[in-house]
Amino acid sequence: MVYVLSKTLFLIGKRCPRALWLHTHSSDFKRNSHNTFSHIPIIKDNIESDNSTLLFGTNVGTLAHLYMGKGPIINTHLKLAQKLQHTQHYIAQDCPIIYEATAQSSQNGDYASIDILKQNTHGNYNLMEVKSGSYVRENYLSDLCFQYIIFQEASIPITSCMLMTINPLYHRKSALSLRQFFQIEDVTDRILSLVTKIQSERTRIRTYKTVKEEPYVKISDHCITPYPCPYLSYCWKNIPRYSLYSLCKPHLAARLAHKHHSLDLHDYIYEKSLSKTEKIDIHAHITQKEHIEQNTLKAIHTKWTHPLSIIHGHMLNNIPIPLFTHARPYEPFLFFLLHASLSDDDTLSFHSAFFHNSHQHPYPRFVRKLCNLCQKDSTVLYFSNNNFTALLSSTIAQCGVLKDTSFINLHHLFKNRYYYHPKQYSQDTLSAIAAACHLSTDIPIPLQDLSYRYVHTMGTPDAQKLKEDCEKYSHSTIRIIALLYRFIKNITEKHSS
Ligand code: SF4
Repeated sequence: MVYVLSKTLFLIGKRCPRALWLHTHSSDFKRNSHNTFSHIPIIKDNIESDNSTLLFGTNVGTLAHLYMGKGPIINTHLKLAQKLQHTQHYIAQDCPIIYEATAQSSQNGDYASIDILKQNTHGNYNLMEVKSGSYVRENYLSDLCFQYIIFQEASIPITSCMLMTINPLYHRKSALSLRQFFQIEDVTDRILSLVTKIQSERTRIRTYKTVKEEPYVKISDHCITPYPCPYLSYCWKNIPRYSLYSLCKPHLAARLAHKHHSLDLHDYIYEKSLSKTEKIDIHAHITQKEHIEQNTLKAIHTKWTHPLSIIHGHMLNNIPIPLFTHARPYEPFLFFLLHASLSDDDTLSFHSAFFHNSHQHPYPRFVRKLCNLCQKDSTVLYFSNNNFTALLSSTIAQCGVLKDTSFINLHHLFKNRYYYHPKQYSQDTLSAIAAACHLSTDIPIPLQDLSYRYVHTMGTPDAQKLKEDCEKYSHSTIRIIALLYRFIKNITEKHSS
């Protein structure tokens, strides 16, 4: 029996033989969601970045079609035979551009599609693959090389191979200029130099599908990067809920587990290669006692001056397409901010929210709003584990009235382990801290899709509903930040008394 590889199967096998074997032989058990492991910080991060790549990768593909011009698009949901038939039909018609063209090797039936098949002046074709990254990566080249080999074996003559990526230096002046937004690199020589390697990988990967026994592959970083493997809950079933794998990268955890012949955290209390933070977490887990650096917390707390403000915002990150005039690809910006003040008797008062719903760049409005909301010399608390801090710093510099040192990110106190509760299980998100410290049972479920919805609803009447959702989420978050503030205050006061 001939085992056929699609590009997807080739990539699965390239990443891990065991994953390909499970994919081929696993009709008995379903692939489980990687969310089962979302309590492990490194996996959670990769799930989130994976979502944004998938969403915005698609939009970049649509823009690439606009840039390249009209041409038939082969429906990716069709059966393979139909996709091949349609591609051949358009080739016979001499179509200069075919999107999602599909080819099958005459040698072994392997098949692949390409984003753009472009006829060149000699009657041959160029392969063009569109990526939402901003430079040519090694994995882009091996994907494209697999596609190149299949098209050649299908007797579709290929002259050149191109990668279309995002130009990171593009600065949007007015309307989006696709000519400046995309950069096209001819990578033909690099693809040709990879052919022998990819051919031998194809042969090797094909054998994984045929072996009767499940191949044994150690769990490691490849289970998580570039995105979590769908078989995590199967291969990681013996990993305890909280273990070395929650503390360090899988390859380090595996190396230490091999060295100590153990996954039990008691065996790692004197392990020299662990960081200070990791040792604190292990010690707290073993003793089931909080770690408190009271002097440091007190020194920080005494600098906070009333009236206190608390802010919480929603940002857009990792978007390749500059949505506004003067924006650049992947430039993060803030589209929502809620502000509350905390009086001396710890009463919270909420103020009007900033919500950006126009096609002008939000930055100048945000600078003005922040200057109006936050009083000079008073302390502004927030909690953020993303690049909100960097955005805030540049806004404060631009504003010229506020001081960077007045803005306190409470996340730093937890990230640096000035306080750590064993029930945080090495997570320093606001919800993990609030749950561990019993601050609130009303912890908002993270709404990661708020940012993605913003892209689709900006400038439309639906934006009002999005604003309400942002407001609801930020209200709850600010309440928890206020509780966290009191929690820290209590710790420092206990120390003083
Ligand atoms: S979880 Fe890891 S070892 Fe298991 S199949 Fe996936 S990549 Fe391979």
